[in-house]
Amino acid sequence: LKGGTCPLTEQWEIYVAEKKRRGHKKTLYDHSASERENIIADCGGRSFVSNQVNNWVFRKLVYEYEKMTNLSKPLRGELDSHFPIVTGHIEKTLTSADDTRKALVRYPDGTGVECVSIPSDKRVTFCISTMAGCPGRCLFCASGKHGFIRNLSRGEMLSQYLLLSESINDYPANTVLMGSGEPLLNFDETRGFLFILNDQKLADLGARRITVSTIGIPEGIIRLAEEELQFEIAFSLHHPDEKQRRKLIPLSRKYPLAAVIEALLVYRRKTNRVPTFEYCLLEGINDTLQCAHKTARLAKRVRAKVNLIPYNTFCDDFRPPDRDTVFTFRGILEQEGVTATIRRQRGADIDAACGQLAGRR
Ligand code: SF4
Repeated sequence: LKGGTCPLTEQWEIYVAEKKRRGHKKTLYDHSASERENIIADCGGRSFVSNQVNNWVFRKLVYEYEKMTNLSKPLRGELDSHFPIVTGHIEKTLTSADDTRKALVRYPDGTGVECVSIPSDKRVTFCISTMAGCPGRCLFCASGKHGFIRNLSRGEMLSQYLLLSESINDYPANTVLMGSGEPLLNFDETRGFLFILNDQKLADLGARRITVSTIGIPEGIIRLAEEELQFEIAFSLHHPDEKQRRKLIPLSRKYPLAAVIEALLVYRRKTNRVPTFEYCLLEGINDTLQCAHKTARLAKRVRAKVNLIPYNTFCDDFRPPDRDTVFTFRGILEQEGVTATIRRQRGADIDAACGQLAGRR
């Protein structure tokens, strides 16, 4: 059995990848606030040093201890050798005609992931990867085509955020977890990263400025709802018919649509946030009038809005529908009383648009 099609082979690959990852040096922010204070105390720092480091990292765009001039030299050296703030480096950056910037971040074990900064008006949104590769194996997605490599730690996700901030000399106004990976299948590390983003002493991004995108992992959606924080949630529907959806998103066969809808209802009730259905429009596959009506019915059940994403071509298997079909689809949703938007394509010329991130060398 080749290509990870055997469940045992897949489990073994995940086990080996995790073991390898755990052997890595953790970053300072892989640790909780109290652990960071203990680490700094063990390295000879006073109790206020933790706040000083946070200020450098999250207010002044400084990630090298060497440049943290209000820390003693021995402390800087000690922290630098054992608890780096950023792991990995930007190996390559591509900037699109619309100023969208895609960075390939290479971690010390050689794993590469892509992350994107997307400017609009005066605000910038970062798109962060939560896994290298993805077990989702969605047929229309570059990350899925390459299969799962390994989970990323919260420190590795933060490294993408900080390296991108450094590259644009600013922090983002919004962050979306829509790069490669299924965030809710890497729940603990994703949760840790979300809390770093939302912490007022750290990145200080309001929960409503952070979006978690998922193919619909009911257990993960409910666990996130239990945090009772108002993170935005984007559910990748892509087809309203369960059988067809399983073909497009093979991993979804483990998570029945009915259970996902129930979980989204819980999410809505606990957080008071309106879920978004992401819908990648593929010509002749999911762009029919019938699909539009079925999608409207599902959206109305959770009072979700729908974001239509005409397919960003990365392989010849699919094509985006023509403009009229996209607008007709949106028209039907609106007639049925569902708020629907069409996502503007960003960064397609550098393969940074939705579904095009792959972490290729
Ligand atoms: S669309 Fe999302 S879940 Fe599907 S393969 Fe791509 S990254 Fe994974």
